[in-house]
Amino acid sequence: MQAIKLGKFLNFTAEIEVESPGRINLIGEHIDYNGGFVLPTAIDKVIHFKLKKRKDNLIHVESIGFENPLKTEINNLNKSAISWHNYLIGVLHYINLLCPNKIQGFDCIFKSNLPVGSGISSSAALECGFAKGVNELLKLNLSNQDIISLCQRAEHDFAGTKCGIMDQYAVINGLENHFLLLNCQKITHKLVPAQLLKHKIVLLNTNISHNLSTSEYNIRTKECQSALNCIQVKYPEYKFLCDVPLEIINEFKTNLPSNHYKRAVFTSEENQRTLKAVNFLKDGDVVQLGNLLYSSHKGLRDLYEVSCKELDFLVEFTRNISSIKGARMMGGGFGGCTLNIVKEDYITHFINDISEAYLKKFNIKLTPHIVKTNNGVKVL
Ligand code: ADP
Ligand code: MG
Repeated sequence: MQAIKLGKFLNFTAEIEVESPGRINLIGEHIDYNGGFVLPTAIDKVIHFKLKKRKDNLIHVESIGFENPLKTEINNLNKSAISWHNYLIGVLHYINLLCPNKIQGFDCIFKSNLPVGSGISSSAALECGFAKGVNELLKLNLSNQDIISLCQRAEHDFAGTKCGIMDQYAVINGLENHFLLLNCQKITHKLVPAQLLKHKIVLLNTNISHNLSTSEYNIRTKECQSALNCIQVKYPEYKFLCDVPLEIINEFKTNLPSNHYKRAVFTSEENQRTLKAVNFLKDGDVVQLGNLLYSSHKGLRDLYEVSCKELDFLVEFTRNISSIKGARMMGGGFGGCTLNIVKEDYITHFINDISEAYLKKFNIKLTPHIVKTNNGVKVL
């Protein structure tokens, strides 16, 4: 079945082809929607799209390995019971608002080697790659900024995740050998060379998805907003939770519900960690950088409460191994991947050991990915 479908992909004569990468985030988790600094970049795992125009107004989209191709028309864009359709329908809806009467019929087929639901943002890769493909195919002249923001809105309103801007931004703007120090208030970035001095980034996919990720994600965004609202009664000058210094958050320790207080502390500390990480990267201090990853994980586990036993096990396993400089959960949480900074000559050994231990503990196979930084979405 898969081979037949792949044949279909290979035989599809495209007018436009687009490659859309997943992303990692070195540090600065869950703070893009709190006005923080984050440190993502695109990676060498991608969704490959092919598109061509049709003579009628139909829109057909097929994803290799997924059932139920999307068959729709621009005048008939309703939410679908098939969840993956909604990312694309959302993108088409917002493109249509920006470019009325410009969307004509087309066929699209895509294949992916991005793990789905693992915190590597297959969703943003899907939205942004599709939007870029449609933009190029139909010559709509949307800017990258337009694409980032319409894809975020598609994810909010059609897929139902109230995500920040980081995923779409990194998928579009990633740059090989660099991280993006993304200022989520100004929506601008500075490039930081990804010099890890004979270390590589290894992702370990727990292959766990606790189905909490969307609901808990949206709960966290609300908790942070409530914490900020409470602080703003006394300190209206703070517009974002990440900007509130720890001393001020501590003034509210008894006023805030304890979970809101913990979210606020995490947010403020994580933002500071991102800025420190940039300095350590610039100084080539991989040890200190790695320590920040461990602190980030601790905060995500104890204060933000988005980890799970499988992620915690994988992070703890790496402690006190000198060839591993740091590890933390990455992405929304409750499953997905850990990100590890591992000395190059230790990677094989590490993957063997930790896979065996994980299998023994949880009876689940771990999926490792040694990732490279990559450029953002590109038209091939
Ligand atoms: P993540 O972005 O971390 O991978 P999400 O839950 O945000 O996790 O997004 C995963 C969803 O994106 C999938 O459940 C599916 O609906 C959609 N998706 C991702 N990749 C594909 C693909 N290749 N084909 C169809 N849908 C996809
Ligand atoms: Mg996602």
